[in-house]
Amino acid sequence: MMKLSRQFTVFGSAIFCVVVFSLYLMLDHLQLDHTKSPNGGDRLQNGQLSILQDKIDRLERLLAENNEIIANIRDSVINLKESVKDGRGGPDSGNMSQGPYPDLLVSPPLVLPIDSQDCQFAARQFSKPADGVQLLDVYDLLTFDNPDGGVWKQGFDITYQENEWDSEPLQVYLVPHSHNDPGWLKTFDDYYRDQTQHILNNMVVKLNEDSRRKMIWSEISYFAKWWDNIDNQKRDAVKSLVERGQLEITTGGWVMPDEANSHYFALIDQLLEGHQWLEKNLGVKPQTGWAVDPFGHSPTQAYLLKQAGLANMLIQRVHYSIKKHFASQKTLEFFWRQNWDPASSTDMLCHMMPFYSYDVPHTCGPDPKVCCQFDFKRLPGGRVSCPWRIPPQPITDVNVQQRVQMLLDQYRKKSKLFRTKVLMVPLGDDFRYTEALEWDQQFQNYQKLFDYMNSHPELHVKAQFGTISDYFGALRKSAMDPGHASLSLPVVSGDFFTYADRDDHYWSGYFTSRPFYKRLDRILESHLRGAEILFSLALANIQRAGKPNGFPSVESYRLLTEARRNLGLFQHHDAIAGTGKELVVIDYGTRLFHSILNLKQVMVNSAHWLILKDKNAYSHNPSKAFLQMFKTFVLPKCFSSRSVVIYNPTEQDRMSVVTVYVNTPHVRVDTSHSHPIPAQVSAVWDDATTASTELSFVVQVPALGLGVYHLSKAEEGGAETAQYLFLRQGGELSLSVKHFTVNNPQDDTTPVSIHNPHLQVWSSATTGLMERLKLKEDGSEHRIKVEFAWYGTTSSRDKSGAYLFLPDGEAKMYSPAQSPVIRVTKGSVFSEITTTFDHVTHTLRLYNVQGVDGQAVEICNSVDIRGEFNREIAMRLTSDLDSKDRFFTDLNGFQIQPRRTMAKLPLQANFYPMTSMAYLQDSGTRMTLLSAQSLGSASLKSGQLEVIMDRRLNQDDNRGLGQGVLDNKVTSNSFRLLLEKRAKTDNEAALILHRKGFDCALSNRNTGLLCATTQGKIRTEKLFSNLRLGSIAAVSLTLMHQTEGGSSQEEISLKPMEISTFRVQLT
Ligand SMILES: [Zn+2]
Repeated sequence: MMKLSRQFTVFGSAIFCVVVFSLYLMLDHLQLDHTKSPNGGDRLQNGQLSILQDKIDRLERLLAENNEIIANIRDSVINLKESVKDGRGGPDSGNMSQGPYPDLLVSPPLVLPIDSQDCQFAARQFSKPADGVQLLDVYDLLTFDNPDGGVWKQGFDITYQENEWDSEPLQVYLVPHSHNDPGWLKTFDDYYRDQTQHILNNMVVKLNEDSRRKMIWSEISYFAKWWDNIDNQKRDAVKSLVERGQLEITTGGWVMPDEANSHYFALIDQLLEGHQWLEKNLGVKPQTGWAVDPFGHSPTQAYLLKQAGLANMLIQRVHYSIKKHFASQKTLEFFWRQNWDPASSTDMLCHMMPFYSYDVPHTCGPDPKVCCQFDFKRLPGGRVSCPWRIPPQPITDVNVQQRVQMLLDQYRKKSKLFRTKVLMVPLGDDFRYTEALEWDQQFQNYQKLFDYMNSHPELHVKAQFGTISDYFGALRKSAMDPGHASLSLPVVSGDFFTYADRDDHYWSGYFTSRPFYKRLDRILESHLRGAEILFSLALANIQRAGKPNGFPSVESYRLLTEARRNLGLFQHHDAIAGTGKELVVIDYGTRLFHSILNLKQVMVNSAHWLILKDKNAYSHNPSKAFLQMFKTFVLPKCFSSRSVVIYNPTEQDRMSVVTVYVNTPHVRVDTSHSHPIPAQVSAVWDDATTASTELSFVVQVPALGLGVYHLSKAEEGGAETAQYLFLRQGGELSLSVKHFTVNNPQDDTTPVSIHNPHLQVWSSATTGLMERLKLKEDGSEHRIKVEFAWYGTTSSRDKSGAYLFLPDGEAKMYSPAQSPVIRVTKGSVFSEITTTFDHVTHTLRLYNVQGVDGQAVEICNSVDIRGEFNREIAMRLTSDLDSKDRFFTDLNGFQIQPRRTMAKLPLQANFYPMTSMAYLQDSGTRMTLLSAQSLGSASLKSGQLEVIMDRRLNQDDNRGLGQGVLDNKVTSNSFRLLLEKRAKTDNEAALILHRKGFDCALSNRNTGLLCATTQGKIRTEKLFSNLRLGSIAAVSLTLMHQTEGGSSQEEISLKPMEISTFRVQLT
């Protein structure tokens, strides 16, 4: 079903035997270091800190004032392809260690031995468990007709018998919660100041008033901020609330993360940050996940929670038709199993909330009109009321019986959707319990209802406040199969995308909204991982050497922690989702950008120590850094060079092209051993036709290693200059280029072509867009057409917004008003074709290197739709692959989820999150689009893959944001396109066996055999002495037909005279 292959290496992730490497330093570790060196270092760090602080302050002012800085962020996004450091400022570039790094001229071992056992995992077929549900099958089953279900609009009528609870009473756990978004309509800090701190302060007081009261809390980002602001007395009060089980920390992540756009590194980062904070400050180990608001749910999150030691989880935003189906099957509580798990080791107990929302009207039972009357914040006279126009009543001795009957009826109906007689009812909403009054209203009125219920045994109900783990504890007890030591609950595999909350309102817009920041997220993520590794290695080395010499470990650690928290904060389901207000988006962007700058500092400081040959010469001077990050290298006059340190943060040796700006086209590049290496000087196009210069060269750096290269001026024998060809149909071009050879053919309609050792690409001479691609490994040619297309928004009342994608039908092909300028670059290091349209600058690039970087076509689109009205722009790849309605997208960069495009669903429902890749395939070929940022993707026709690049929407989509999406930036989207041939099934052979018919009755008793007969039975394992039979399948004589019930794998049995053929794999 799934076959993972070269894809995973293209963006530097892991394959088979390679383990992704991360280091996360513990707080204790660094505090220890701090106490060891309390002097010296601090002064230096303070100096550095104040410089940095000034920079940040200035940046913050600018950001608040205008959008110009955003353009800077954009530049750094576009230019941050590689971490490149200049050696200027180093007292002596001779003091650079070369020992640990291999000779860079040695060509890489391109064909590595791979044990076949290590690359067969993804090709395995997993059998479905007997009681298992695969969500893809559920989609097949459902009609998605959305009939009116009565009071439960999206469900069905629920009935029950009065006596159903006579033998086992209904156990109700009412779970008070307050959903605190770390940024949405207000920034994180503003929400904290206006709401969150009051909620938490009141919580301490109000839970202490009555030990029966309970509360749960999820967002550690807020909790940690509050903790820093309260005194020890209050902290102790919180600790006892936790110890008494009145306050439960659920999930314990830094935020409640988006599950579509978040990469699993970032998901782990925010969970780790939250859990480590809890361990240190509260001594709490969370038991249960609570995710009421992320817009669709991923099994990756279930897996991570399981691995983090949680036992249970809850999800809420699931397609209403799936909820209805699960409710009717009583499968709302299930074990969520990973698609790739052959057994049950990944099973996570999961509760899916059945109704429309997590607010009070949609949690007590099926009828929101009734449930709303039990949200006592909505009592008459308050700021909120019930839209169903029947207000709540305060509970009194007079009305308590009647109110209990009403509420119990809802509880019982809800309970009918579950397999046990234990019921969970959340009580809360966004930013609830801010005022003391609200605590009294909810807790006092419910206590009266519960007291009445519990003192009337004829009602057969036991109701109480509870935490979510109280509920799961009772559920586990009740669902325990008495005969076995396991819970009798179904097993579910798959994911819960794409979410729809009503009608055709599919939440596939947020897969793409604010793509600029989705890219920025990944840049911070890679910097963070790179910096953590480099810093950890440097620190360990320093500690081993016992010579700290003022290494800024405390300051670096502070910057790392801040970066983890900023990345963690951005995983929030309104942050990376692109569904916050404009000013909140700017707040997130500022945090991400600052941390990228800070992490560069951490990397520079760490690399400094690591790169030194003579560690005694180390001294840290923040005002004159040894290594610096430069955008442009100004090369000095002859005979002196500048050193570039290249860092490979991946866990594999890497051969890659690095590009830096230079002030001259006459450059040479040498390794640290003074061997010249191939380099190319190309033009940097300030616009389509005006240029300065950049230098690209091929580096090879070991896993987690640093490599040093030297750049120097060279009039002769230096880097080759790229050659240019310009095309523009029916238009004159005025070019302003020094140093480069430019050809400018007119009216040529022959396709333009570029190639490298692996691939050849042909593009249209009119548009510059790819039309054909050839794989040199087997000479096969494929039609792969790149196009751009526009989606509009529907003319009906509800329109596309930050969350929703509601297109006005199929996309319309992009046709530029004037013919674009096409620029073809040919060089020894890379070749590319760039087309400048009005809304997008599109580049196809081929690298002239061995290894994975050379095997894919790099695609870069710089998109600008700032002048548009209600439009979204998509890139579409149309291939000749016969993929039918199947395609595959990844989940969180962690695993692959098969998808099926369905005609019974609206167009927008067929879009899925592409966190890092999507692919389609047929029997011979697979086409993968790897993405450097999360975007929405679909395969609307066989052989077709499309990705939304940016969306500009002029209105709100009624999900609370109150804004359209109009803060578009010029956004750089990067991809790699990989075409792979399916390997001819290796070592497959036809095994043809003939059992001869002997007659031993004749005089010649010697049959001529040199072995004993076996009555036609052959043990397959004994067939070959040193080869193993990987698989064996009985087929017809000429392999055309499968044979029913062929021989078992262990033994083949043949009747006399028969000839049988088997398809076998020899390994
Ligand atoms: Zn939320």
